[in-house]
Amino acid sequence: MLTVRHDVSLESFNTLRLPAIASHYVELTSESDVEEIVRYAKVNVLPILWLGGGSNLVLSDRIEALVVRIVSQGIRVASQSDDSVVVEVMAGEHWHTFVNHAVALDWFGIENLALIPGTVGAAPVQNIGAYGVEAADVIDSVRCYDLHCRSIVELGQQECLFAYRDSIFKRYPDRYLIISVTFLLLTHFKARLGYSALDEHLALKGIVHPTAKDLFDSVVAVRQSKLPDPNTLPNAGSFFKNPVVPLALFESLLIRFPLMPHFKDAKGVKLAAGWLIDQCGWKGQYLDRVGVHDQQALVLVNHSGGRRRDVDDLSEKIKHDVKAHFGVDLEQEPIAYP
Ligand code: FAD
Ligand code: NAP
Repeated sequence: MLTVRHDVSLESFNTLRLPAIASHYVELTSESDVEEIVRYAKVNVLPILWLGGGSNLVLSDRIEALVVRIVSQGIRVASQSDDSVVVEVMAGEHWHTFVNHAVALDWFGIENLALIPGTVGAAPVQNIGAYGVEAADVIDSVRCYDLHCRSIVELGQQECLFAYRDSIFKRYPDRYLIISVTFLLLTHFKARLGYSALDEHLALKGIVHPTAKDLFDSVVAVRQSKLPDPNTLPNAGSFFKNPVVPLALFESLLIRFPLMPHFKDAKGVKLAAGWLIDQCGWKGQYLDRVGVHDQQALVLVNHSGGRRRDVDDLSEKIKHDVKAHFGVDLEQEPIAYP
């Protein structure tokens, strides 16, 4: 029997701590609840918002929808060989806890993704990435409920249409509920290095050949030193994607800004959005109740009682300044709802 609650505060369920009220709210603990939840939404003519840890969402004050918080738990080894292990993880599992679990069991491939907030079920949505590794690198398949076909489907890695912070799930948010994610992890470790902050931290520790645990610990330490903890300073991580610009624009910018960080990308040249925002003078600035983090300009923070409109105002001003200064369009990374 479904327990739907009304006018529920989502303030503690989103890491920006925006004071959103859900008109209808329910928790999904198991796959067997899905059909009933979907039926309830249809009968009551409500859109559905699937909610994980709320760490990549910008919520409005009032949400006229059935908000379904996914809390299903479970980790199951589906198969194992000499080189790899295939693991199915329920969507409501906490991502970092799963990474910790994998490293402890010598299942390799996700150690660079330590300390990313949120749930396993949301990892495929924006194809989470950090320090040169993406969820797409280790996802084997995603088990979903397809709201168009009203049935369970299993999407293979290719069918998920993964791209930089993007996937079929982000493009069609009304179509799929992710029930579980199956990962293909390795049992032989190969370190993925090349990000200077991580490499420098390992060098400082005197570690030349890092183990997976060394890498995991370094990622955790570097992230804790640079990123605000949402529990003390509410935020949604990087607020903008790093823009990839055409070569011609990049070359003209490099003449004006020779110190501009840049990275080759298959589609052009990737610029560091945080650096662009910092150059516009936004780092550490306040705009009423919200602001830009004083150590990482890519992170917008909610200082005290900020609402969706405050975040939108700040975001628009930053976008405007970056466009005026560099001619570059920034795209918001967290999903605005509605
Ligand atoms: P939510 O915010 O709850 O949801 C995000 C989107 O996914 C929503 O559209 C929601 O409807 C949808 N969704 C959630 N669960 C499901 C489901 N089971 N089925 C279908 N749709 C679903 N991201 C990175 O990529 N790399 C980082 O390094 C990183 N660092 C971060 C650091 C901080 C401090 C913070 C606050 C955020 C960071 N993020 C990062 C962003 C965020 O943590 C990730 O995008 C994460 O995967 C979101 O998980 P969540 O459970 O909180 O999703
Ligand atoms: P950083 O190391 O200061 O680097 C700044 C930017 O430059 C990053 O965004 C990164 O792009 C890019 N970069 C740096 N070294 C690179 C290399 N060797 N090759 C390609 N690109 C390189 O970044 P940070 O802010 O401390 O974050 C560290 C990692 O965690 C990054 O991968 C970042 O994406 C991830 N992170 C993501 C979020 C989020 O909410 N999405 C929040 C915090 C951290 P990429 O972003 O493409 O890697």
